[in-house]
Amino acid sequence: MALLVQKYGGTSVGSPERINTVAKRVARSRAAGNDMVVVLSAMSGETDRLINLARSVNPEPPARELDVLLATGEQTTIALLSMALERDGVPARSYTGSQVHILTDNAHGKARILGIDDKRVRDDLKKGRVVVVAGFQGVDEEGNITTLGRGGSDTTAVAMAAALKADECQIYTDVDGVYTTDPRIVPEARRLDRVTVEEMLELASLGAKVLQIRSVEFAGKYKVPLRVLSSFEEGPGTLITYEEDEMEAPLISGIAFNRDEAKLTIRGVPDRPGIASHILEAIAKANINVDMIVQNVGADGTTDFTFTAHRADYKKAMDILRLVAGQLKAKEVVGDDKIVKISVIGVGMRSHAGIASRMFQTLADEGINIQMISTSEIKISVVVEEKYLELGVRALHSAFGLEKAAPNNAQRG
Ligand code: ADP
Ligand code: ASP
Ligand code: MG
Repeated sequence: MALLVQKYGGTSVGSPERINTVAKRVARSRAAGNDMVVVLSAMSGETDRLINLARSVNPEPPARELDVLLATGEQTTIALLSMALERDGVPARSYTGSQVHILTDNAHGKARILGIDDKRVRDDLKKGRVVVVAGFQGVDEEGNITTLGRGGSDTTAVAMAAALKADECQIYTDVDGVYTTDPRIVPEARRLDRVTVEEMLELASLGAKVLQIRSVEFAGKYKVPLRVLSSFEEGPGTLITYEEDEMEAPLISGIAFNRDEAKLTIRGVPDRPGIASHILEAIAKANINVDMIVQNVGADGTTDFTFTAHRADYKKAMDILRLVAGQLKAKEVVGDDKIVKISVIGVGMRSHAGIASRMFQTLADEGINIQMISTSEIKISVVVEEKYLELGVRALHSAFGLEKAAPNNAQRG
């Protein structure tokens, strides 16, 4: 008898009919002899609707109250699924995050899970019940409702699977696995049978929203058997793996992109120790996360300093930078919030040269100018003008032959 944690995303529970479909699938898995814990998202669009509702009352809703409101989205779907299961004769119990003690820190809107008290869940499983848990939410030490950030139900599911030592954590979504890139942008994108946890971490952190980054971090830490599958069709999905065979790894596994970027430059700052930290300290104090950083080679005792940040922080960051520019007697501050980041990812990069040049040449052939570059051991990212996003991703997908089943992938399967 296996213990399965299944998570269903917003589209998969987006209507009463779809909730019925989920109930049937859960019932089938249970009838096959598995203990079942189900984690649900809110109905698709619901979290956005609630955010807008909050803003219509208070343009800057207090974070604590926003979490109280957002948590209702998931509370709705868990109750409905349990009702559907009971109707079909399957004993079920729904629980909010606080009821099953998903303990988090108190960072409202982006809380981290600190622990789960699994006693209640285990008791129910022993009684033959399906346990249905609200994703995306937890409770802090003082009993305040918290939420885990957008896409956080993935993390609830993986954390639950880790706490229960589940045999598999199955993320059911509206695509049938992890693809070489977002299939909505590149129709030729191909489902991966397997992807290493390291690659998945890069894909998720560089923009592929199919799994929330924290869920992958959690999975890596506790080696949770994790699979992404479609809630609409049968299939093997994509397995996240914890061992890699570099010799057999495909050169490039996937391409990720992120539209939420903005670029800021401060020109003509003095080229001396302490300047970079001075600039970034001011930005960090405003709680703005910086992504890529580039500093030019100095000339005439001055230099230019450029970084990217989340697009939502663009205006705030520009204001701060103008202040800093005044203090440093810099020449000027310029920025652009119409940029995107495109990244190619693959553990095979470690053992192969020439990936960067092929990437840059491909973009050049399409007339796409590269504004910034950053690399790590298994990824190369570039910043380009927003209007080139689709063209760039498609060109790279084809240049690296990702639409064809990589021979090595078959061997790895
Ligand atoms: P859910 O509501 O089930 O959590 P999400 O919308 O959060 O679903 O994630 C699934 C979506 O992620 C897909 O519909 C797809 O458009 C997008 N996506 C982006 N990159 C990838 C990728 N590499 N593989 C699969 N899906 C991807
Ligand atoms: N409902 C939340 C969101 O839309 C969490 C999730 O779906 O994973 O972000
Ligand atoms: Mg999601």
